[in-house]
Amino acid sequence: MEPRILIMGPQGAGKGTQSRRIADEYGVEHVTTGGALRANKQKDISHLGLEYDTPGAYMEAGELVPDAVVDAIVEAALDEADGFVLDGYPRNADQAAALDGMTDLDVVLVLDISRETSVERLTGRRVDPETGENYHVEFDVPDDEVVRERLVQREDDTREAVETRLDVFEDETAPVIDRYRDHEGYVEVDGEQSPDGVWADIRTAIDERAKGS
Ligand code: AMP
Repeated sequence: MEPRILIMGPQGAGKGTQSRRIADEYGVEHVTTGGALRANKQKDISHLGLEYDTPGAYMEAGELVPDAVVDAIVEAALDEADGFVLDGYPRNADQAAALDGMTDLDVVLVLDISRETSVERLTGRRVDPETGENYHVEFDVPDDEVVRERLVQREDDTREAVETRLDVFEDETAPVIDRYRDHEGYVEVDGEQSPDGVWADIRTAIDERAKGS
């Protein structure tokens, strides 16, 4: 059986980048709620009778999309996957309880970065709309001028939305991370390192913990 990996950490910690590498290296599915929701921004969820009528409205405000919507996305994705890296979920205690009922986990990776680093990475982040690749206005400028010219900022990477997202992380998601501290697959990685440094630590952690699974 392929490893079942959960990756957690604040926005900008590198979860997306590292998850893509994990999926390639270990042949597991990259299950990302942020990605799934971005692909379903305009979905009509008015039947739930909540604050907004689409996932996109929550996302632009930097708020969490309602659990009922996100739980269903994750459950369907995990059902189909033989081994996965789950990125962006669970983000609150109820989602963590829902995940408990869906699957066991072999590895729980936590990427640690400071709030200051999160803000710096997210507000400077730019995305290539053609490839989905992430860049940064200072730290990772594309060599190709055509790519440089077409970069856009994610709607939730504005200063205001970033501060809201980090507040939500500290209030709701950080306590969920604490809940996994006693899990036998739990490991913290220093996310302030270069992407290659983080990747080296992650490979070691997965190879140690997923052995024989
Ligand atoms: P991300 O790309 O993971 O930062 O997610 C972008 C946005 O999607 C978040 O700010 C939320 O609005 C929404 N989102 C992603 N994952 C979840 C989740 N597990 N629960 C609720 N909302 C989520």
